[in-house]
Amino acid sequence: MKKRLLKKSGIAELVAKLAKRAGVFAPVDNEGNTLFQKVIDANSIAKQYVNSKDAPKGFFFPHSETLMRYKRTDKGMELEDDQVAQTKRILFGVRPCDARSFELLDLLFNQEKYSDTYFVSKRENTTVIVNACVEPISKNCFCTSLGLSPTGSAGADILMLDLGEEIFVEFITPKGEALLDCFGDMEPSATIDVQAVRERAATLVDASVPCREIKTTLDNIYEHPLWESIAQKCLACGTCTYLCPTCHCFDISDEVKGDDGARIRNWDSCMFPLFTKETSGHNPRSTQKARWRQRTMHKFKYFVDNFNEVLCVGCGRCVAYCPVNIDIREVVKSVAKI
Ligand code: SF4
Ligand code: SF4
Repeated sequence: MKKRLLKKSGIAELVAKLAKRAGVFAPVDNEGNTLFQKVIDANSIAKQYVNSKDAPKGFFFPHSETLMRYKRTDKGMELEDDQVAQTKRILFGVRPCDARSFELLDLLFNQEKYSDTYFVSKRENTTVIVNACVEPISKNCFCTSLGLSPTGSAGADILMLDLGEEIFVEFITPKGEALLDCFGDMEPSATIDVQAVRERAATLVDASVPCREIKTTLDNIYEHPLWESIAQKCLACGTCTYLCPTCHCFDISDEVKGDDGARIRNWDSCMFPLFTKETSGHNPRSTQKARWRQRTMHKFKYFVDNFNEVLCVGCGRCVAYCPVNIDIREVVKSVAKI
């Protein structure tokens, strides 16, 4: 694996070089929130951020996406050119938990039997540069409870690790190596102890949430009073699912005006009462209890059944932003006690 050492003072030059290769998107301070946005130079990149408020999954699975456009003509329906994106992009400063979420979304959107060309084309055209979490680390983070690391490279093409005055850089994939020349030619000396930095960072994250251990309990508690007790507090606002880097439910609708139409895919949320409501009026998940059970089961049981992975990366966004302080770590711990 190729490695480089980059002086912090060289970041402006690095971003300028990257911006000549592709559109660069990075965490930016925006009216009190840190959000992923296009940057043209390093000045606009947030200096100290735990993580962005919005999960960067939106670069591959946008909030709202036109799948196709069509027109009614005398000869029948005509489809316009396909809407599959080919634009090259670089995501700069993705946190390790979010990069890992891309791998989990790959399992769903890029299966052997079914490959979502809209998602896959964006993944193929995007290089992911991860900024490892050394500090600050939020009290809401629990990636180590999922067997992950705050300095891990899962889902990364390039991993950057902050050593103070310098940044240690690892090139994980060929896509990452294609940007090697942007990072200069200084190779790290053998005396740099990156392992110690990694081990210290891991100790700062909560590893006590039994996310991977509750699957067998969930197999047997479909009818349990726990779901009602969680649901009583829930406002069904959907914040937890919209901010979550791994939630991926969507709805598809057609918008038609005159002879022109567009088929659009929009994020949906299992927390919404209308989520599973059928045209007949029947709703198989007619209560918030059923919906909260679904959320927990999907992340910690069904995704394990289907892909042998837990659908959570411990980013802590749902913990931080739930307006009524429902804490998924406590939900998991409550299941573990049953
Ligand atoms: S469930 Fe919560 S902690 Fe887990 S990945 Fe989603 S937002 Fe992050
Ligand atoms: S953010 Fe909280 S209140 Fe809103 S849907 Fe999620 S659990 Fe319910």
